[in-house]
Amino acid sequence: MKTINIAIDGPAGAGKSTIAKMVSARLGYIYVDTGALYRAVALYITENSIADADIEPALANADVSLRFVDGAQRVFIGDRDVSDLIRTPEISMAASRTSAIPAVRKYLFGTQQKIAAENNVIMDGRDIGTVVLPNADVKIFLTASAEERAERRYKELAEKPDCPTYEEILADIKQRDENDMTRKESPLRQAEDAVFVDTTELDLEQSADEIVRIIREKTDRK
Ligand code: C5P
Repeated sequence: MKTINIAIDGPAGAGKSTIAKMVSARLGYIYVDTGALYRAVALYITENSIADADIEPALANADVSLRFVDGAQRVFIGDRDVSDLIRTPEISMAASRTSAIPAVRKYLFGTQQKIAAENNVIMDGRDIGTVVLPNADVKIFLTASAEERAERRYKELAEKPDCPTYEEILADIKQRDENDMTRKESPLRQAEDAVFVDTTELDLEQSADEIVRIIREKTDRK
């Protein structure tokens, strides 16, 4: 049976993962966060101090995979659950750099396609609608202004020790946007047939409502 595939792409901090999780729960689809795969590869490369020239052969042994526990995604290197370890600013920046390496993208391509072929998914990333699932049933390009994205991230981190300043977060977001949009391999861009959604003025609930509306309209789900 053909599965239903929804692709959500957009820049860092646009709320893709939170919104996509809410939408998946409502529609009963599996939510796949492909950024976690790139982060796990970055962690593997960092922990093993692998030089760029050695990445391609090293990936043959990396064994990065996704598993779904009660519908929630966990990411593994071998049998080690690294889902929490990958959420640091260092790994964010390392993933942004290493994801531009063609061998890294090639390594993760099949994993993403296989999950989408076997499940109804909402998959988020940077190149899902353009490269990984070019025939997705619905494509959404989700964004918000860099200032709004930085503000949201700042509020999220404000309670934590060693919280970076708003200015540091904004600089980080702009740097990652620049890396993702200007790389040669699968740059972040809106697919021609994607629906553009700007959440600068929307809260999470309104953003999720809008995406559910678009999905229902496009898939005739009532
Ligand atoms: O989405 P998240 O911020 O967790 O992604 C981490 C990094 O992985 C991004 O900055 C981006 O460079 C890379 N990525 C990618 N393609 C995807 C998903 C993430 O290049 N489909």
